[in-house]
Amino acid sequence: MIVILKPEAPKDEIQSIVSELKSMGMDIQVNEGVECTVLGVLGNTFEIDADALTLHTCVDRVMRVSEPFKKANRKFHPHDSVIDVCGTRIGGDKLAVIAGPCSVESEEQIISIAEDVKKSGATLLRGGAFKPRTSPYSFQGMEFEGLQLLKEAKAVTGLPIVTEIMSPKHVERFDADVDLIQVGARNMQNFDLLKELGHTKKPILLKRGLSSTIEEWLMSAEYIMAGGNENVILCERGIRTFETYTRNTLDISAIPAIKKLSHLPVVVDPSHATGMNWMVTPLAIAAIAAGADGIMVEVHNDPKNAKCDGAQSITPAEFDVVMKQLSSIAGISGRVL
Ligand code: PEP
Ligand code: MN
Repeated sequence: MIVILKPEAPKDEIQSIVSELKSMGMDIQVNEGVECTVLGVLGNTFEIDADALTLHTCVDRVMRVSEPFKKANRKFHPHDSVIDVCGTRIGGDKLAVIAGPCSVESEEQIISIAEDVKKSGATLLRGGAFKPRTSPYSFQGMEFEGLQLLKEAKAVTGLPIVTEIMSPKHVERFDADVDLIQVGARNMQNFDLLKELGHTKKPILLKRGLSSTIEEWLMSAEYIMAGGNENVILCERGIRTFETYTRNTLDISAIPAIKKLSHLPVVVDPSHATGMNWMVTPLAIAAIAAGADGIMVEVHNDPKNAKCDGAQSITPAEFDVVMKQLSSIAGISGRVL
């Protein structure tokens, strides 16, 4: 349920409604907007008499929220959330650019790519250390050694690091070492993992599941937020459809849909969405034009010999061209690169 207060509602009256609702066992989220304050009410709200609430002079209206996601819902939090990732803000005017290889492969590889993408304007460095591979015989990642190399690349470039977590057992270590913890498509509904991440305050990059609806994706965000961690960034990375030409089908319509339904930032990964390096530029442009808060792109210094996802990786030189193209269109959605 949400309670929309009248503009200039006195603070003491707001406080008395909050206390009244809390005494009924409700959890209240107070969102002070520019025009008015909105109270998000969580709990067994069927016990609340909405008509009685509107009798308070400072209450404008009371609405029951029909969607099952509450904390992720824009009705609860009308303004866009901006998430701070180690000093880099995701969700504001400046577009976030997360770039780097699919997997960390060596010290030389990750540091050289990190330096190159930083020069071109990337704002965060990605690199998989624990890889969710379809085949158990494929490269599984450098694991903790990879994590250590990412930290070295951060020390050299200053770029915050983004890497994927696969097990709830690793939450403590990732919380200490990683700036933005990625939950991959395959783990979007790993509820034990989501609950553990909800107990941290670490920013989480939640990728959309392979065949998940927008509502299922937002419910996964809700799992993290319900635990107390509201620092969630969504990542559209393509979904399974009948089309086989591309690895997945990039759902551009998810961007305005998320913007309407939720206040959480949304970034787009055109690399996993298509599986083809030559589609990265047009789809990155489309994503930004449609209102995405940033992109995540796989960049490799030797794509032909990459241990994972070489076909969809662009070179640092190609990434530099993508950045130049994006900077000329960022203004379409009122952003800067
Ligand atoms: C990745 O980002 O390396 C990855 C495995 O992505 P996804 O979970 O979207 O497949
Ligand atoms: Mn990959």
